[in-house]
Amino acid sequence: MMPMPYRLLTSLAVRLNGRIYIFDAGEGTQLGLKKTKLGVRGLGVVVVSHLHADHCLGIPGIMMLKSQIQDPEPLTILGPPGITRFIQQAHENLEFYLNFPITFVEWSPDADEVAYEDTEVRIIWHPLEHSRFCLGYRLEELDRPGKFKPHLAASLEIPKGSLWGKLQQGEQITLEDGREISPDQVLGEPRRGRHVAYVVDTKPSKGIYRLCEGADLAFVEGMFLPEHAEHAEAKGHLTVVDAARIAGRAGVRRAVLVHISPRYNDNELSLLAEAAKSRFDRAEIGEDFRVYRVPYPNDEESAGSKQRAAGSKQRAAGSKSNSQFVKWSNGYEGT
Ligand SMILES: [Zn+2]
Ligand SMILES: [Zn+2]
Repeated sequence: MMPMPYRLLTSLAVRLNGRIYIFDAGEGTQLGLKKTKLGVRGLGVVVVSHLHADHCLGIPGIMMLKSQIQDPEPLTILGPPGITRFIQQAHENLEFYLNFPITFVEWSPDADEVAYEDTEVRIIWHPLEHSRFCLGYRLEELDRPGKFKPHLAASLEIPKGSLWGKLQQGEQITLEDGREISPDQVLGEPRRGRHVAYVVDTKPSKGIYRLCEGADLAFVEGMFLPEHAEHAEAKGHLTVVDAARIAGRAGVRRAVLVHISPRYNDNELSLLAEAAKSRFDRAEIGEDFRVYRVPYPNDEESAGSKQRAAGSKQRAAGSKSNSQFVKWSNGYEGT
């Protein structure tokens, strides 16, 4: 698929507590990062579905952009077999300047389902069914501590103030009378974080259900109208009807259909939206640069992470020929 003047390639940026996770980067994604003012400060993870150009050709540009800031944080790149070679060869051939270490995490048949985890999220991967080996992903915000129950703290005669704060943050405390109080004595059940699925370039497959199950927000490929179902099948893609049906069955709270074929102009997007909604009324068609706020599972809070679909035409970034700061950490790391 090509970027078009009226529609950019599919890329998703998840922002959470100052950290940015990018899912796929086709040609020109770095312009989207500039236009949305997301930038690359905070970008620590790039996640790649597969090695088709519309999903990975923009990664070198993003690396160059990141190298223009001082002391950027390390980068982790998750992806299918071959992603390490693709990035390394691009770097070796183009000799662009890099000033941060990169860790590659390549999928393999015996890979753990959890591809990546940090202090905020875990990222799960699962193979899909496409004309090339392709992975879908699910980003899960880690569970949050349970709610603090003041009446329990009061009944245990814990003085208000800093001790309450420590318990709220999950720390064990010792009272003046020697009693030890653990957080679970005053906190409710841990609360599930928000889950976002990213599934593109696939035929209907079991993996989509696994990744989308109960997700708070799911970005799912809806490339074709149902009258082009044969084409979708032949190329290893979904129609909007397939995507909406699967999202509905998987219990997704909100589905955003992306990776729309350039054969449909903007006037035809309403046809895709209608077809999708006929199967699942919480499905909609994604828009370039749109921000989606993800509510917590029980709707108690709505602030927090934002999703942006970012992608755009590429502009060659300035670079110096100096790779001495590159620390390639080849092979397989992580779980
Ligand atoms: Zn593809
Ligand atoms: Zn594609």
